[in-house]
Amino acid sequence: MSRLECPKCDEGVVSSFRVKATAETIQVCNVCRSVWDGADVLPGPATTTVECFLAARGLPLLRKELRAVA
Ligand SMILES: [Zn+2]
Repeated sequence: MSRLECPKCDEGVVSSFRVKATAETIQVCNVCRSVWDGADVLPGPATTTVECFLAARGLPLLRKELRAVA
């Protein structure tokens, strides 16, 4: 997945990340922390935020839970 300008905040860059605990792939904005599903085609409505995404899975709110995907 390539890097994209964030359609939500118009400032950040959306990059793909692998969630280590669940092996899910998500797309995250580096500014507003909006999250899209890995299969979502941007621009589109964000699914959630990093905080809500991790909390919903019982994961700590730590950056290291995510690994950048090239
Ligand atoms: Zn953003």
